[in-house]
Amino acid sequence: MDLTQSACSQMLGIPENAPLDEVRRAYRKLARRLHPDVVGGDSVRFSEITAAYNVLTGRCAAAKTQTQKASTTTPPRTAAEEAEHAQAYAEFRRRAANFRPANGSRAPQSAQSKVDPMVQTPAAEPQSVQPEVVEVPVSTVAAAAPRPSLWQRLRAKVRKAAPTHGSDVYLTMPVDLGTVLRGGEQAIMIQRAAACPSCVGGGDTRCVCLGAGRLVVREKLKVQVPAGARAGVKMRLGGKGNDGLMGRGAGDLYLLLEPVQIAGFVREGADLRGTLEIGAELARVGGPMNVPTPWGPLRLDVPAATRTGMKFRLRGQGLPVWQRADRGDLYLQVQVG
Ligand SMILES: [Zn+2]
Repeated sequence: MDLTQSACSQMLGIPENAPLDEVRRAYRKLARRLHPDVVGGDSVRFSEITAAYNVLTGRCAAAKTQTQKASTTTPPRTAAEEAEHAQAYAEFRRRAANFRPANGSRAPQSAQSKVDPMVQTPAAEPQSVQPEVVEVPVSTVAAAAPRPSLWQRLRAKVRKAAPTHGSDVYLTMPVDLGTVLRGGEQAIMIQRAAACPSCVGGGDTRCVCLGAGRLVVREKLKVQVPAGARAGVKMRLGGKGNDGLMGRGAGDLYLLLEPVQIAGFVREGADLRGTLEIGAELARVGGPMNVPTPWGPLRLDVPAATRTGMKFRLRGQGLPVWQRADRGDLYLQVQVG
């Protein structure tokens, strides 16, 4: 291989004694096309133009072959340049990997600059960012998630750094009959993320909270429930949700009411429907009898000639209407037996 100045210039398709800038531009253009990692690359020609480039940029003395270079005892300066070249090659591979159209304006280029943009150390990239625990799972154990992408990890970092408002907690709360009828206090165990008392949410990784800044706590809450609780009604307890990060405000606690079934009755809103069994004799002649209601037994005057299928309405003997000073009715369907 002829490695004279003129041969090298010819190989790169530039005039002899072309300025360094032009040598670099020509080499990069060819290298992008010929690199063995690129589709249609040519490893032989690539090594040739690389050798030519090295000669023209003064990295190797002219007319020295690769084997000679390898066998010579390398003075420190050459060793440094070798390293530089290896780096350039690594950089090239990196660029070829995310092959983008040339923009050529990545680094400031000046004629005096001795630093070849090709051999600049690539900007330090985050090699391994450990995913961080941002939230203590509150009610469910999070399933093993796939390893987060770099973007997600960076976002998680930002989210951790930024103080976050606490999230809301949702719970179902059973309500007993007495509370449905008259309202009252219901106790409930809740589980929520509370600010870590040891580091006060500071996120110290040596802390008992492992840097999450919060701990899952179980608390017994007493809740004042109004009368007439219906299934699906939501009660909001401001500030009783998960505590925020770094002293930020807590979320809210939402209690989804689940009142008990009332034995012997079907509930329709505030109204109740049931069956009333009346003896044949009483049904024929009529008279007083005790009927069960959620409020307790009630005296009812059965009219004479009562027949199966008749319906009695006991006004105001149903359930309280949620958040209204009003009551539903109790409907009883007669069954003469
Ligand atoms: Zn802590």
